[in-house]
Amino acid sequence: MLGIDTYNIAGASLFSNSQPPHPATCSQCGRKTDQDFVNPIYRVRKRRRDATATYDGYFLVSERFKAQCEREQWPGVEFVRLPADPAFFWLRGTRTLEFDAERRETRFKRYCTACGGYCDVIGSTPIYLKGISAPLGEGFYRTDLEFASGPEQHPLIIVGPRTGQQIKSQKYPVLDVSPIEI
Ligand SMILES: [Zn+2]
Repeated sequence: MLGIDTYNIAGASLFSNSQPPHPATCSQCGRKTDQDFVNPIYRVRKRRRDATATYDGYFLVSERFKAQCEREQWPGVEFVRLPADPAFFWLRGTRTLEFDAERRETRFKRYCTACGGYCDVIGSTPIYLKGISAPLGEGFYRTDLEFASGPEQHPLIIVGPRTGQQIKSQKYPVLDVSPIEI
């Protein structure tokens, strides 16, 4: 999604290169600094899938998947239509759940002084959430933490158990919904 320029990072701590930095990423570590960036020319390659994740952490869904979410009126989700591929949407969770990094022993490595974040946030599964003692309500959530390294960092998208069942019942090809134990 970020495009070929993603790896042209001036500081080159992650990927050595001397090209100008990508406009939506930190010039030192490559983390996304523009959280709303959408590549104006990006098109989905695996078009038969109703849901696909890009290597740089964008969760994309089909018109069919979006239509189900709207029909069910699930809260906590918004869709950004891809400018160059109007049959697909970037799905974003709008309600945040606090991830329990201590209990999960998530590792934060390579602090970046340029953007104030960690280049590597490793360890997201099994998923542990803070302050959750009952099954989640309907709809979508996202974790406060974003996992992986540099431009690949992304939150986890979580749905309530009933929503998960309803998504599963549609039998979307390749879309996997796994339960979280609390
Ligand atoms: Zn940085």
